[in-house]
Amino acid sequence: MRPDGRMRPDGFAARFGSPPDVRAEARGRVNLIGEHTDYSGGFVLPAAIPLRCRVSLARRPGKRVRLFSDDRETDGVLEYALGEETAGRGWIDHVQGITRVLAERGDALGGFDVSVASEVPLGSGLASSAALEVSVLRALRDAFRLPLDDVALAKTARRAENEFVGAPVGIMDPMAASLAPEGAALFLDTRSLAHETVPIPEGAEIGVIDSGLPHEHARGGYRTRRAEVEEATRRLGVRELRDLSGEDPEAVARRLPEPLSRRVRHVLTENRRVLEALAALRASDLVRMGTLVREAHRSLADDFEVSTPEVELLVSLADRRQGVYGARLTGGGFGGSVLLLAARGAARAAADAVARDYRALSGRVATVLLPMASE
Ligand code: ADP
Ligand code: MG
Repeated sequence: MRPDGRMRPDGFAARFGSPPDVRAEARGRVNLIGEHTDYSGGFVLPAAIPLRCRVSLARRPGKRVRLFSDDRETDGVLEYALGEETAGRGWIDHVQGITRVLAERGDALGGFDVSVASEVPLGSGLASSAALEVSVLRALRDAFRLPLDDVALAKTARRAENEFVGAPVGIMDPMAASLAPEGAALFLDTRSLAHETVPIPEGAEIGVIDSGLPHEHARGGYRTRRAEVEEATRRLGVRELRDLSGEDPEAVARRLPEPLSRRVRHVLTENRRVLEALAALRASDLVRMGTLVREAHRSLADDFEVSTPEVELLVSLADRRQGVYGARLTGGGFGGSVLLLAARGAARAAADAVARDYRALSGRVATVLLPMASE
């Protein structure tokens, strides 16, 4: 949206020669708390962010799909045919995965043209991929009258990403993109998919700073942690760590050797923190919420060991700023982004100051992704 409130001129007609039939959008998300809990049946609390992915779509006769994205302008218009989806074609795999999964579900689709314009930065941990998938699915649902409710839509996005793109992502991102409204968090039980929206208290504002650390390392580290959680689950003789939610985390941890004991202690205490955070948000208790955010960070750094010296520096600088209730690593870790829970109106100045001090101390450049600079 431009500052004057008008939509940006739509690239769809310029690319495809006629106006779209439908438009749809979906938001990125930031996870407030509940990290590395979504693959053991635990709780998460992501919040919708103001940045959106927008798509325009028109049906076309036949089986061809034509795609264009502002973020991949140099690719120009790409094409494939329904029923002939082939993996390994870059960003359009997200859409190919969707049409493949919809066909497997028995949903009847025809060909279509689609253009994408996203404000969500790609690959920065704000779930641009889920925003893309959910916005495309919403447009397809509308254009082809698909019988998909919002949860089925999120499940379809996840399957597309797991089975076609080949990314072992959880259900959190597509559920947040599909179900969290602007200005709200989504409490989600990743086991039952029971969920509830919770407004972000009036007095709060969220900041996100990207540490700028490379992501390649992240994938290996993420896999190792997942394997450790699986190994611990096996040794504890349960199906998922969620089965141990009624037990004392310390007592459970004592049944395991290092480092599995600490990995499990993180997951079990994190699930408790998510439930406490839900209560704190409902009560608009930002001081309590900030404490939980800081405790979640210590647990991620010390027990789950997914932080890095650069992220530690960012978090300690942020915790010290005026108007910041708490800061923590958000996302899978090994680099990535830092979240600030700040007082309304204070997040941008705090995040800018943190990025400036970080540069002075480390020589590295961190990027403030949220809140957006005011126009
Ligand atoms: P994240 O979801 O955290 O931003 P991912 O690695 O899961 O990071 O997803 C990023 C990928 O999603 C991109 O490499 C690209 O393939 C695809 N993607 C997301 N948004 C867009 C977009 N607007 N245009 C084209 N591809 C996109
Ligand atoms: Mg993603």
